[in-house]
Amino acid sequence: MPTLSEQCALGLERADAQHLRRVLRTHGRVDGSSVEIMLDGARYVSFAANDYLGLRDDPRVIEAGRAALLAYGAGAGASRLVTGNHALYALLEAKLAAMKGVEAALVFGSGYLTNLGVIPALMDKGDVIFADKLVHACIIDAAQLSGARLLRFAHNDMAHLAALLKEHRGDSTNALIVTDHVFSMDGDVAPLAEIAALAKLHDAWTMADDAHGLGIVPAAAPVDLWMGTLSKAAGGYGGYVVAAQVIIDFLITKARSFVFSTGLPPSVCASALAALEVMEAEPQRAARALALAQRVTQALGLPLAQSAVVPVILGTAEAALAAQEALKNHGLLAVAIRPPTVPPGTARLRLAFSAAHTDAQVEALIAALKELPCAR
Ligand SMILES: *Cc1c(COP(=O)(O)O)cnc(C)c1O
Repeated sequence: MPTLSEQCALGLERADAQHLRRVLRTHGRVDGSSVEIMLDGARYVSFAANDYLGLRDDPRVIEAGRAALLAYGAGAGASRLVTGNHALYALLEAKLAAMKGVEAALVFGSGYLTNLGVIPALMDKGDVIFADKLVHACIIDAAQLSGARLLRFAHNDMAHLAALLKEHRGDSTNALIVTDHVFSMDGDVAPLAEIAALAKLHDAWTMADDAHGLGIVPAAAPVDLWMGTLSKAAGGYGGYVVAAQVIIDFLITKARSFVFSTGLPPSVCASALAALEVMEAEPQRAARALALAQRVTQALGLPLAQSAVVPVILGTAEAALAAQEALKNHGLLAVAIRPPTVPPGTARLRLAFSAAHTDAQVEALIAALKELPCAR
């Protein structure tokens, strides 16, 4: 047996050989801007953050957090079921529930922890989960943790989902269909109304992950569970699930990542609440992020953007890394996304647009993308 260090060194060598090694870089901030960052001593305009509405820098969001930090301290002190349930949670949960037009909400430590708690609380051995091929990794982890059988349908392919339901639904006790609402690496939107109709026909529950939809793409369809994150358009940190009151009551008792993990700091709740209020009061922010994404897809002849996320598919991990470097030479930062985050052969630049980007920044991006040898 190799030593643990030898084993890890071997794993890193293999990742290097496939251009799949991941390394941490330190990203500094340029004062006063939510889209300009410092990296290795150089200044870049970033198209690589999920802060689609520019809210992590909003003075109202910062001030709400600061006031709560001073008033209530740095941490929750305990899990919410013990003594960590600050009054701010109820306000934040009421706001989330109202925004989705559903009875109740429950806030978790992060979006990842939300999926990891919710899905295994509801699904068990003998049940079946139908998940879109491109759902976020934490949904897959959660499905595996639940012990239920996991079946994947081709991306947004309702004929395939219908066929899988027809063939396999009958073998299992309970069934859940789960999808991203807005897909994190593709930016396209799931056909939730059709999924809800198929679920009704085949006696299945439905769940949508709204991590990239909240504040950008309205959640119009009826699903049993909405989950999402407060770390993207809301600009802060934390996760949540929104559902009927009885479902939320059950999750408070059964979701292990809720029961056995410390609550979010009160200041984080306060910032999130302020961010949701700005999100609602200023819909022009979402409209701008979407319009900028659409301007870029139109200029490049790509399918019209449906959200603030635009993929520029390049194929190999090597090509995606080369494109990332080429953009850096223009002072632009977009991140190369490689397998296993995306399927093999579909490595890409993932562009994320923010209401805080200027027109000039987006024009510079378009010009640089047009110069890429491999982009359309
Ligand atoms: C980011 C993301 C999550 C995880 O949310 P965090 O709050 O960052 O843990 C879950 N689902 C999707 C689709 C995401 O993009």
